[in-house]
Amino acid sequence: MKKNALLGLTVLVSLCLMLFACRKDIRNYIENKTEGSSVQLESAKIWRLQNLAYGENLKNTSILKPIWSDSWTIRSSKGHQLLIVPAPEHYVRNKDLSIRRFFVFRTEHDETVSGQIVELLGRKFNVEENLDNLLANYEETKITNFNGSVYVYDINYQKVRSATYLKGQKTESFSSIVSARADNKSFSVARPSSTNGLCATVYPIKNGWPLIPCDNAQVISIADYTYDSYGCILRITLTYVNHTCPGQSTSPGTSSGSASSSSGTTSPEYGGGGSTINVDVSNICIAYQVTHALEANNAIKDMLEQEFLFSGLDRTLNISDVNNLADTVMGNTNGYNNTINITLNENKLPGRSNEYILATVYHEILHGYMDLKLTKDSQGRFIVPNDHNTMATSYVATMTGALQTAFPSLSTNEAWALAWGGLENTTLFNSNLLTDTQRADIKAINSRHSKTPPSGTTAMGTFCNYNF
Ligand SMILES: [Zn+2]
Repeated sequence: MKKNALLGLTVLVSLCLMLFACRKDIRNYIENKTEGSSVQLESAKIWRLQNLAYGENLKNTSILKPIWSDSWTIRSSKGHQLLIVPAPEHYVRNKDLSIRRFFVFRTEHDETVSGQIVELLGRKFNVEENLDNLLANYEETKITNFNGSVYVYDINYQKVRSATYLKGQKTESFSSIVSARADNKSFSVARPSSTNGLCATVYPIKNGWPLIPCDNAQVISIADYTYDSYGCILRITLTYVNHTCPGQSTSPGTSSGSASSSSGTTSPEYGGGGSTINVDVSNICIAYQVTHALEANNAIKDMLEQEFLFSGLDRTLNISDVNNLADTVMGNTNGYNNTINITLNENKLPGRSNEYILATVYHEILHGYMDLKLTKDSQGRFIVPNDHNTMATSYVATMTGALQTAFPSLSTNEAWALAWGGLENTTLFNSNLLTDTQRADIKAINSRHSKTPPSGTTAMGTFCNYNF
């Protein structure tokens, strides 16, 4: 009797185990999906680890992790074998939107040849019900009936490209998923026009935003950009997705779709990890030169991109203008860990030449760059070197070249003098590597790059003519 009961229990346990083990197969069977084979999965796991910029552990808190157990395979419209692996999802409050994200690995003969992260956004379009169609066609210019966007990222969750579809047809408009502070002035840097200088400042239009019951909420939204024929941004619309109040943990991993894709741990927000550059500048003359600094193709822009956009690390660069800096201080930078804050003197810089303003922005960016390279001593304290001495010995030539790329008619001597601005107390400046004449020349050129040059001298440089 007792033996029978035990046997019964064993059978029950075994059955449960079997059912448990087979649950996924049952689900895939019902959904008519073919599970990824163990060989395909192994190959994808290895490929991902080999291509993660900083490995799995360093970015432990913010890395997007595949849910390998829920993978399936499909054939793309181009005939490629794709291994689809779900990623943890976030709650979407805006009922007009649906979002899912996946790892998509292309496999050939079970070997992974490439991998991406793909986010599918439906606008009044149910992504969940159209998954396989969307995933098979996400690289096409037509996706039947689709209203929404496809965002493609590399395996490190850095943006690669995006496409927006209206009634199944790919459109010209550009879109991205952004995370921003709600009370940000949200000045957005417009691209300089390729044909005639710089573009006007654009302030985003908010769409579908609820009343947010806290200050400083982090808001996830869909940014849609419209450009004019010069390549300037005409309009930015931010459509609300979700928000988090300070101190509140990120919204629970409530899946917007399949029951399998929930996650107990914090996973990065939609829109890609990686770095962000926030510009919050209200003075238009300063704003133009910040734009200029972010757009002019030179060594300093390369340094910025390397550190902020392509480093694979979550870094933030905040650039703003303020009115509380001392009159003698044109800009200030503080940075630690992975956040750099640059403030620019809103009272003084607008009276300076465009070249001088840009030199100041570059000077602060170089401070920020050095801050990112800080190392710690054995007690964990940051070792803070003298930035200005480093700038004087290592970056004057870089900055001279950068200024000349940004302002092609600026002479080498003038650019060189501006590059020395702010470095007058360094060892090198006061050494015999510079002559007295050179020192005097540097100081004179810097003071003449002003709307009000010293008496008896004329102004040098070009000036921003907005007055407000
Ligand atoms: Zn400095």
